[in-house]
Amino acid sequence: MRHLITTKDFSNSEVIELFQEAKEFLDEKPRDFLKEKSITTIFFENSTRTLSSFESAARRLGARVLRLDVSRSSSSKGETLYDTAANLDAMHPHAIIVRHANSGVPRILSSCVHCPVVNGGDGKHAHPTQALLDLFTIYEHFQGDIENKRILIVGDIKNSRVASSNIELLSRFGIKITLVAPPHFMPNTSLPKSYLLNEELIENADIIMSLRTQVERHEKIVYASLKDYANDFCINPKLIKDKKLILLHPGPVNRNIDISDEVMKDQRALILKQVKNGVAIRMAVLKKLILEN
Ligand code: ASP
Repeated sequence: MRHLITTKDFSNSEVIELFQEAKEFLDEKPRDFLKEKSITTIFFENSTRTLSSFESAARRLGARVLRLDVSRSSSSKGETLYDTAANLDAMHPHAIIVRHANSGVPRILSSCVHCPVVNGGDGKHAHPTQALLDLFTIYEHFQGDIENKRILIVGDIKNSRVASSNIELLSRFGIKITLVAPPHFMPNTSLPKSYLLNEELIENADIIMSLRTQVERHEKIVYASLKDYANDFCINPKLIKDKKLILLHPGPVNRNIDISDEVMKDQRALILKQVKNGVAIRMAVLKKLILEN
């Protein structure tokens, strides 16, 4: 049984096939590939985009969606993950999409159920569909010519599952990554890195990926204030001037901390395109995992 727990679960050629399929799905027309299938979503951690994106994707493919309300589920009454998994499995879904604050939960779940499990984000560990939709957005923008494109990943990289999934996936496709963060947000890395976001870096970049400060994952306050962080790392017009590049962000954006209001309106900011592309990518992922398994 194949699952999508990390981006490593798909080979490069499978990723390109997903992109070809996702491109078709951008027309937003309903399909019936997953008619008669039922998909369960169980999100133990908050989500705005990812949950609705997966549910739209499932419905656009004709599937039924059962959303488990975690606040009312038995896990809040002390049920173990194994028992929750066994009960979910007994309902015979065709796929389960799970998000959890603890790294590793989707992997554990996948070992206890009889259907594909898709990781909707687990702790700091991984967010594979976000990385797939980010790469798809880059791939579409540069019309497939992505090898040797240069990306700056800026922000709380150490605590970001989006960063770790993107680092794995984008490197595999020959994209040159530079990590830009203050020391306490910088992971141990062999990648090029900078503690400053300066004009020289921007001058040499084709893509900037800005990330939110993951305050919910900080054990202690690591930056005096988000305003101080913004002074050094907020993407603003002074910094990017008229440089030809694209700007990505997985959302939710902290305006004027991650990205300024002016830049949010800029043509180069593809944040809403990422959201649209996300539904198409998730359609391609669900179709592949459910029909090819
Ligand atoms: N939405 C992304 C995630 O779930 C990014 C973020 O929350 O900053 O990881």
